[in-house]
Amino acid sequence: MNEDFSKKTLWFITGSQNLYGDDVLMQVKAHTTEVAMSLNESQNMPIKILDKGIVTTSEEITALIKAANNDDHCVGIIAWMHTFSPAKMWINGLRILQKPLLHLHTQYNRDIPWSSIDMDFMNLNQSAHGGREFGYIMTRMNINRKVVVGHWKEPSVKNEIAQWARVALGWEHAQSLKVARLGDNMRDVAVTEGDKVAAHIQLGYAVNGYGLGDLSSIVTQVADKSIEELVAAYRNDYKIAKQKLENASFKSALHEAARIEIALRQFLDERGCQAFTDTFENLTGLSQLPGIAVQRMMNDGYGFSAEGDWKTAALLRIMKVMAFGLEGGNSFMEDYTYHFEPNNNLVLGAHMLEICPSIAADTPSCEVHPLGIGGKAAPVRLVFDVAAGPAVNASMVDMGDTFKLLINPVDAVAPQEALPNLPVARVLWKPHPDLKTAAKQWILHGGAHHTCFSQNLSKEQLVDFALMSGVESVVID
Ligand code: MN
Repeated sequence: MNEDFSKKTLWFITGSQNLYGDDVLMQVKAHTTEVAMSLNESQNMPIKILDKGIVTTSEEITALIKAANNDDHCVGIIAWMHTFSPAKMWINGLRILQKPLLHLHTQYNRDIPWSSIDMDFMNLNQSAHGGREFGYIMTRMNINRKVVVGHWKEPSVKNEIAQWARVALGWEHAQSLKVARLGDNMRDVAVTEGDKVAAHIQLGYAVNGYGLGDLSSIVTQVADKSIEELVAAYRNDYKIAKQKLENASFKSALHEAARIEIALRQFLDERGCQAFTDTFENLTGLSQLPGIAVQRMMNDGYGFSAEGDWKTAALLRIMKVMAFGLEGGNSFMEDYTYHFEPNNNLVLGAHMLEICPSIAADTPSCEVHPLGIGGKAAPVRLVFDVAAGPAVNASMVDMGDTFKLLINPVDAVAPQEALPNLPVARVLWKPHPDLKTAAKQWILHGGAHHTCFSQNLSKEQLVDFALMSGVESVVID
């Protein structure tokens, strides 16, 4: 995924008050610039941090928060109470705050200057109690926020801020995200349903349905030249057995898959949708279930989920935005089948076709196999394994009166045996703390079989996302 988020910013503001006099405030201002610059220069900071100076009155605070709310590039605010900033001054501003806020509880000096410390030093460096005053008013006003504690030069502190910045970026993105549903829900399935109006109000994204006719009318108009170019890309990007390329039905399947991919991209781009769902029960006008198309589009950053599951499609898109530029990937996933060998309990995750190659261990193999259900032509898909390593599964469920985000860290393990007859991309993992506990808790909490599988986001980031959204989170580990 190479999208450009270079215009997105975090605003760094420092709270103080006029009681200290100009000399002290000048120092506070200089320290603010230094800290903001240092954070900005830290290597893993995904977006720009802007030094917005110090605020010392209720009017200044309110004006600054209004400006942040209205700035399309601002995805969040970092607030530092360098000195004591009486919190009644913050009430009017915080009442209208619409951006995520990180409270950086730090101080300029790392060490106490034992031999020289006097009351002037104490008055300048009093975030230890300034931060508490700020925390009190935010808790009293019921405002969700991130609190990061520690010296601002510490790599772990910078890293916590950088991780949170990604979450704020994802949250910002959710506020304008459009999810297209091609066809409705898989018939009779409960967990993939949900209240789209509630999601729009709570999470910001819009979910709209389209008839397959809207897509298939584009499918029929795709130019042969574009199809040939895309088929050439398939041949170039993936492993294809040489004798297959001679086979007429294989070639025709590839041709049709490319036609569907081109149409799908055009359909979504024309509507400004960056996430989508389909369902194998409604493929009118398509010759095969979109497999390679969906896989390649996920790899380019689209959110996707099958069977009409818009909650997972939206979450995947948001997670892909959070993880932009990082090594590793994020994919639609399903808990498919178990390996119950004593002391080696594993989950085999896969889907009918649609696993994102961003998590592939190696160059995927491009294959055509019949699908047991749906009654359509044999679809093209990318088949691959996933490398061992830490990952996390997340699932957003609608409990009727509230949304809930379930989060389960796992360890992906390399396949222990070849799987020559399994014609789909797959990943094996050990859930934390173990399969029995994780599956039991997941089920008791009502977690879905569809998840987003992430190699490069942490459970803390997903908890932070839930907090920003005002959604309950459950970590199983
Ligand atoms: Mn499914």
